[in-house]
Amino acid sequence: SGGVVQESPMHIVHIAVEMAPIAKVGGLGDVVTSLSRAVQDLNHNVNIIFPKYDCMNLSNVKDFHFQKSYSWGGTEIKVWFGKVESLSVYFLEPQNGLFWTGCIYGCKNDAERFGFFSHSALEFLLQSGFHPFPCYHLKSSDNPRCTRHEHVFMHIVVFIDSGSEKIRDIIHCHDWSSAPVAWLFKEHYMHYGLSKARVVFTIHNLEFGAQFIGKAMTYADKATTVSHTYSKEVSGNPVIAPHLYKFHGILNGIDPDIWDPYNDRYIPVSYAADNVVEGKRASKQALQQRLGLKTADLPLVGIITRLTHQKGIHLIKHAIRKTLDRNGQVVLLGSSPDPRIQNDFVNLANQLHSSHGDRARLCLTYDEPLSHLIYAGADFIIVPSIFEPCGLTQLTAMRYGSIPVVRKTGGLYDTVFDVDHDKERAEAQGLETNGFSFDGVDAAGIDYALNR
Ligand code: ADP
Repeated sequence: SGGVVQESPMHIVHIAVEMAPIAKVGGLGDVVTSLSRAVQDLNHNVNIIFPKYDCMNLSNVKDFHFQKSYSWGGTEIKVWFGKVESLSVYFLEPQNGLFWTGCIYGCKNDAERFGFFSHSALEFLLQSGFHPFPCYHLKSSDNPRCTRHEHVFMHIVVFIDSGSEKIRDIIHCHDWSSAPVAWLFKEHYMHYGLSKARVVFTIHNLEFGAQFIGKAMTYADKATTVSHTYSKEVSGNPVIAPHLYKFHGILNGIDPDIWDPYNDRYIPVSYAADNVVEGKRASKQALQQRLGLKTADLPLVGIITRLTHQKGIHLIKHAIRKTLDRNGQVVLLGSSPDPRIQNDFVNLANQLHSSHGDRARLCLTYDEPLSHLIYAGADFIIVPSIFEPCGLTQLTAMRYGSIPVVRKTGGLYDTVFDVDHDKERAEAQGLETNGFSFDGVDAAGIDYALNR
């Protein structure tokens, strides 16, 4: 990656509404943080503009302080600054209370809230004279993140390879929630003086807000999505199809420092490849004890997921039953935005906790520390998604030495190579087989993978 690293630094501003670990709902939050950190490690100047939610966990923000205010949209907007995982984040707090709602998503006026945020972020850039931000010249030498994150390298190449003109300023928006940035920039802010910047738009999940996404696809200079296979799967979608010439599937990565079993405060024994057996045994015991399961050496299947149709609810339920039938243990960590699905799982939990209390535990909540212990303590992590743009849980599972069992779709297909069927496909990419996968959406497919 030398040629790219030696380019003089670019200025990249992410405008996003989720960011791990301060305000994360799913993979979008992980990727905004991990991609930014990796690009910053390549010497580029990365800043993030973020809503200041009242429900944000400020204990994870360093040097948090008020910076200034500006007026826009009939209100005062306070700008706060802080460091999150070594990234510079500008927090916008409109005094009209749009982000004083105790939640990230789930308000009736989410489109209005995030539309306002997108607009006020561009206004902030304009009023501060993009690029206003301090330059961080970090050393990129010997940085493992640079080499492990193929997606970072690809992103930079996609950005700067835009004809002969040297593009230095990138505004990067994500999914429907900051999609308005793309057209507000092209229709307005570009003409107000931000003319040197180019807009990159990343689709993390096409299912959400396709009506906004189509317009952003039209206006963005480049568009990406989070895996090659997903980019092919959605290429016929009417909001994507006209834009294939500027649309790239680039596989997500995870941040190997944030997800690191050798340096993880939520697990009892640090481990790496050379003591993986000992490390995982200690985590399994800690997990069993914490959840009141029998501390026996049974195969332990973990599931960490939002509980939505996308994630294959019926296959998740089937996998739980199947695992219990075959004398395994199963731990599910998940919650649903849909109260009906949540209730359904509460009922299932009650049933299973009385019939198989020593081998099954369903934790129907969001719990970041517990997720670490499950990745470390499980033998297998199951991801039976009906569709999956990239999926991060299978990657984190591998990082913690748990074997992924996945449905062959989207990024799951691109990252998991079945031990019995994908040897050639893995070798063609210089990789080894690393898990189990299955086709179909019925019990037979997942049974085949689980039985093996
Ligand atoms: P999606 O973005 O569709 O939810 P991904 O696999 O891309 O799916 O990312 C999910 C992320 O959210 C992972 O980092 C996973 O560990 C985390 N996660 C999902 N559900 C929970 C939960 N209930 N508690 C803690 N972390 C969770």
